[in-house]
Amino acid sequence: MVDNEIEKLLQLQEIDNEILKRQTEIELFPEKVKNLNKEIGDIENQIKTQKEDLKKIQLDRREKELEIKSYEEELKNLNKKLDNVKDNKEYEALLIEIANNKKKISEVEDDVLLLMEKEDDVVKKIKILEEELKKTKEKVSKIIEEENKKIENLKVEVEAKKRERENFVKDIDYKIYVLYEKIRESKKDKIAIVKIENGICRGCHMKLPTFLVEKVKKKKEIIQCENCSRILF
Ligand SMILES: [Zn+2]
Repeated sequence: MVDNEIEKLLQLQEIDNEILKRQTEIELFPEKVKNLNKEIGDIENQIKTQKEDLKKIQLDRREKELEIKSYEEELKNLNKKLDNVKDNKEYEALLIEIANNKKKISEVEDDVLLLMEKEDDVVKKIKILEEELKKTKEKVSKIIEEENKKIENLKVEVEAKKRERENFVKDIDYKIYVLYEKIRESKKDKIAIVKIENGICRGCHMKLPTFLVEKVKKKKEIIQCENCSRILF
């Protein structure tokens, strides 16, 4: 009768699944940290872009302000010329020039106002993003701290489960154990022993021949699925 061995294998599989579950979670942790840090990096990049925009706007504004200054210088000179004007024709020409100059100043001043509005908007955006960055950093460091503790616990649990496994394996027939290990290693789902349900292997869902099902029922030997090689019970 292999009843006892089947029972032991099922218990072993339970232990192995417990270990695997924890190991998977431990292995996923670096990816989790990476994703959390990416959240921070994304906001930092947005801030960087906004700050570059701000610099451009400020440069533009400074240029426009210099432009206004030079127009104003010119206007001063034109007004001086106006004081010393000799004839009517020259007077008319100067008035036109002054009017053009004033028009230019007012146009550039409008540009400056627009740039100042833009600057205000960008400054506000940066402030909001910096607040968001601060909150996200706090959130992320809290999560990582908690996750770190969890991972440390999981590692301790894995070690304990492994010791439990070592002791447990000593009681299993060596050949059966080796078979179990070989099957388990080869399977993606790491399941080596499966139930027959309505004549179907729960591992690969194939219909099993009746003689095989009967053999399993007799419990005289370890029987494997003809299709997926898993141990049947
Ligand atoms: Zn199968």
